[in-house]
Amino acid sequence: MSFSALKLSEPLLNTLTELGYSKPTAIQKQAIPTILAGKNVIAAAQTGTGKTASFVLPLLEKFTNEHTNNDHKLRGKRIRALILTPTRELAVQVEASIQQYGKNLELTSMAMYGGVDAAAQKQQLIWGVDILVATPGRLLDMAYQRALHFDELEVLVLDEADRMLDMGFIDDINKIIERLPAQRQNLLFSATMSADVRALAKRTINNAVEISIKGNKSSQPKIEQWLITVDKGNKSALLSYLIKEQQWQQALIFIETKHGAAKLVSQLAKRGIKAEAIHGDRTQAVREQIFDDFKTGKLQFLVATGIAARGIDIDGLSRVVNYDLPDKVDDYIHRIGRTGRAGAQGEAISFVAKDNFRNLCAIESRLGHIIERKEFDGFPVKKTVPVSILNYVPKNKR
Ligand code: AMP
Repeated sequence: MSFSALKLSEPLLNTLTELGYSKPTAIQKQAIPTILAGKNVIAAAQTGTGKTASFVLPLLEKFTNEHTNNDHKLRGKRIRALILTPTRELAVQVEASIQQYGKNLELTSMAMYGGVDAAAQKQQLIWGVDILVATPGRLLDMAYQRALHFDELEVLVLDEADRMLDMGFIDDINKIIERLPAQRQNLLFSATMSADVRALAKRTINNAVEISIKGNKSSQPKIEQWLITVDKGNKSALLSYLIKEQQWQQALIFIETKHGAAKLVSQLAKRGIKAEAIHGDRTQAVREQIFDDFKTGKLQFLVATGIAARGIDIDGLSRVVNYDLPDKVDDYIHRIGRTGRAGAQGEAISFVAKDNFRNLCAIESRLGHIIERKEFDGFPVKKTVPVSILNYVPKNKR
């Protein structure tokens, strides 16, 4: 199949030829005609499958036709499409794709994100923008300041919805959606379809066409999962042992409570391992400094409570440790998904004590397989953890 069979017009087809795109990818084949037909879409697709072009191309096609027919003049501070992304990096990348694919068209686009001065962004919005790519926080700020109005919005795209939820943007997303016109087209893209993503889709999108694309092997996360059964009192000694014995360069260590986080940092310090703890009580400035140090490798070991870890988004993170196994299966999936991104190799290690048995069963049932167990001399377990029953259903879910 060629792109022309997808009913894209001449200027777009020329650009695609110039870029050397000879045929649409699987997601593009399915999404482009569906979006052009004005339908809602929920798509499970990973980065690397061509998903950006699968929504950008039909948006450009639709808006350029409206321009040519002159049946829609954009007013100041108005936008036609809003693409929400979890990070500034992704916003910039998606907007660059819009520029690239739309270079022969007369449409405007803009990337808008926090952490930079808002004045220039406000100025850019003054004449209206056809396609705005934004992170949720800054977008809401702009809406509150009336620098931006949604009354002409036609299409909402939630890109990498799972990552947005992972990073704790759900309240912002809900507040944004409340402000949008009820009559609009909705497109949701997500690498994984967790229960949280499904719930968001159900609340916000009616009658969607569902598309599911399996990423090719290279784009699928390669996460090696293993667990160690351990008695509660031995966990910090075991962690120190692994860090030293296996010469870990980096680990994001998840722990249940902020008190536990502070205690673990001091226990590691006693064994000569420098770590920092991040939890809700630390100021924003301190948290950002710690994140930065961890991202650049200056800090090797970061101990975080689940909530505090939400803002952490690190490409190339090699290892996560569930020092405490999470209660919710979704949390386990989110946590391990922070490693092994973009085809890189990642490792997810869980410390499992007897009390965690039910959680372990629930996690392994969801994964559909038992997680490999490793044993280390010097850490015998007094309270053994039985092997899971894969079809186990927690009592309250029966
Ligand atoms: P994405 O999944 O959107 O991150 O895209 C992955 C990469 O594939 C990007 O570098 C795109 O430029 C490229 N790409 C997207 N669609 C096609 C296509 N039909 N043919 C060749 N390359 C493509």
